[in-house]
Amino acid sequence: MPVRLFNSLTHTKEELSPSAPPKVGLYTCGPTVYNYQHVGNYRTYIFEDVLVRTLKLLGYAPYRVMNVTDVGHLTSQGDEGEDKMEVGAAREGKSAWDIAKFYTDAFVADGKALNILPPDVLCRATDNIPEQIALVERLDKKGFVYKTSDGLYFDTAKLPDYGKLMTKEHLEGLKSGARVEASAEKRHITDFALWKFSPRDKTRQMEWASPWGKGFPGWHIECSAMAMKFLGETLDIHCGGIDHVPVHHTNEIAQSEGATGKPFAKVWLHGEFLLMNNAKMAKSSGGFVKLSDLVDRGCSPLDYRYHCFTAHYRKQLDFTWESLEASKTSRRRLVEAARALAGEKPTPGAEDFTGRFEEALSDDLNVPAALAVVWDALKSTLSAGAKRDFLDDAESVLALDLFKAEADAAVPADVAALGERRIRARAAKDFAESDRLRKAIEALGWLVEDKKDGQKLRRK
Ligand SMILES: [Zn+2]
Repeated sequence: MPVRLFNSLTHTKEELSPSAPPKVGLYTCGPTVYNYQHVGNYRTYIFEDVLVRTLKLLGYAPYRVMNVTDVGHLTSQGDEGEDKMEVGAAREGKSAWDIAKFYTDAFVADGKALNILPPDVLCRATDNIPEQIALVERLDKKGFVYKTSDGLYFDTAKLPDYGKLMTKEHLEGLKSGARVEASAEKRHITDFALWKFSPRDKTRQMEWASPWGKGFPGWHIECSAMAMKFLGETLDIHCGGIDHVPVHHTNEIAQSEGATGKPFAKVWLHGEFLLMNNAKMAKSSGGFVKLSDLVDRGCSPLDYRYHCFTAHYRKQLDFTWESLEASKTSRRRLVEAARALAGEKPTPGAEDFTGRFEEALSDDLNVPAALAVVWDALKSTLSAGAKRDFLDDAESVLALDLFKAEADAAVPADVAALGERRIRARAAKDFAESDRLRKAIEALGWLVEDKKDGQKLRRK
């Protein structure tokens, strides 16, 4: 089935046409590992996971590369300020390398909890410094580079179509001086650092020798260098959060196309923001919710995954604890419906629903519509086996653990003990005692169900 995706470069939905089908080369900008990721960041990674899983369902062979920014991401987008890694290291009294490892591990663990398939390549900026230096040299030979007292910069005026990914609003913002933090030595406000020199008076924890002296790469160059290293000079798809459009992705295009003269990516996809109280979730604004905060409140990471499915990836989604609770309830209902089918032998017969499900996803990843098809199928008159068959397909994209045993809700010892007594009471046909034990179990927040294969306990 053809897939149509909204390309931010052309502002239209286009049919996907990878260079070497069925392979789809996919680059997705990854985390900066100086702190935990917030759930807004994970909304983007979940949308990218749905893309990968949808491509697989529809017969493609996606190959996903994701970077880990462990150096060179400065505290301002204008190439000023301190390196976030070194700031994080100072804050926690660890080395920048330890900080990078700790938060990379945390990111990988969160991804696993969210059922995000691991990328085929997860590459660190610090493991690919020679590639970044080589790319800067290539740009230098082509005349795109100039030097200031603190580094090498890309001269954006030399690239005629610089900024083609930006919207009208972005361009108007530039004119009105939205990016005023530019250093005085920059020739143009949009010029950006390719390589920064280490300060003379201070040894950095992360610095490398280069043809221009000791220093470290600018933030954007790692993505161009690693994307082209692992996927070739033209990518089939490049993804990221919408906040990357005006600076990071615009500059990735400039560096890559400046060097190769070829289109950098055929399709650009951007996930919209997760809002909290109608403001963008950001580390700086205090509205910073980590995945572990959701777990502390009794939600599964997969309840959050479901929550992300309630809005199209190109629409903003407001995050409130109430709306998350609603998603938790919906997911529980779905899991219960699936569990009732768990013992069924999948029998074909749900082609119509599978077709509708795939059609929704192939239309620019319309997950809310795909989810509606799932609910329709469950309410339909299909046989249990056919429902099971359809849900198997749907679960390959939804990945909500619909058929996983309720191992995640380990039964506490006191509840288990009451459960044991209730089994004995029922065996002895002492139904008054069995009822009393049921109420005691419920008072502890658990439900008892009597199934054909025995008594089951689950959280209320
Ligand atoms: Zn990037």
